[in-house]
Amino acid sequence: MSVLAAVAGGAPDLITDKERIMPHRIRPVPFDVESLIPELAGLGRETTLLYPRSGEPGVHASSIGGPLLWPADEPWPLCAEPGHWRPLRTPTEVVGPEPVAMVPVVQLYARDVPELPFPSAMDVLQVVWCPLIHDDEVGSALPKAYWRNEQTVAAGRVLPEPPVPYECDEDFMPRPCTVTPTRVVEFPHGDLPVDLAQALSQRFDEIEEALGFSYYEMATTVQSKVGGYPGWLQEPDWPDCRCGRRMDHLLSITATEPVEGCWSPLDEQEPGSSDPGPGTTTDPTVVDAIGHGMDMGDLGGMYLFVCSACPDMPYAHRYDC
Ligand SMILES: [Zn+2]
Ligand SMILES: [Zn+2]
Repeated sequence: MSVLAAVAGGAPDLITDKERIMPHRIRPVPFDVESLIPELAGLGRETTLLYPRSGEPGVHASSIGGPLLWPADEPWPLCAEPGHWRPLRTPTEVVGPEPVAMVPVVQLYARDVPELPFPSAMDVLQVVWCPLIHDDEVGSALPKAYWRNEQTVAAGRVLPEPPVPYECDEDFMPRPCTVTPTRVVEFPHGDLPVDLAQALSQRFDEIEEALGFSYYEMATTVQSKVGGYPGWLQEPDWPDCRCGRRMDHLLSITATEPVEGCWSPLDEQEPGSSDPGPGTTTDPTVVDAIGHGMDMGDLGGMYLFVCSACPDMPYAHRYDC
């Protein structure tokens, strides 16, 4: 039953894909970071970890790798950059002139991630990208963001299938995944000021010795997420908005997701693990489903930023690996 039919029939319990997603259970950090390291006071930020798992999300579900709630009468985005490459065929040639269909990468509904900033009256964020390496400074896929109103799109005809790109780089082709938004507090990793990181390095060593986990493993995250600190693999490189303000981190899509350690969900541990300590590992049947399957270059990350002070919410991206 379609969402509209369900609404018309006055049976909200039938809107099963709009049910609240239960967050994962995450191992609590074994100490209070700010008490143990007072220099980090005020640097904790809420972030929403996405935990993509291979699956079959519907258009009314938050997802990574699609499918998207896309209006059928709106042209699907195509990329005609003259500089993008055709990496799957050898020798590598420049693609063109025909445009390449972009691919669904992220769809997030406000009901699942209410902390996302949305332009007025919008409640769906969609990110697509051209799945070819671009001949720009960083050499990555080229993302584009869209904000929509779910009800408005659902009231019209929804695109059944997006066009398939005639060429792509497998590194930037996600498989369809469900997401499980899970809120945690994280502390800076790459964004920890260099002098502070140096000043604290001995204390970090002591903590690791005492607890068996490093500060970076326990209190910082490098995985697909919304808000918090970008999952930088290289030096931070925050974009500035045209209004002069530094943009806010919108979301990170990273090639790696935790399979073990502090941020691997307790509810995905091997059955029978009675003491889910640091040594326990994820259920092998879950491991294959973890992640969107993109290598993103050398296990890289794509970071999107927005300026929520400007009404049209301009955005920018960064990529590293
Ligand atoms: Zn392109
Ligand atoms: Zn701005």
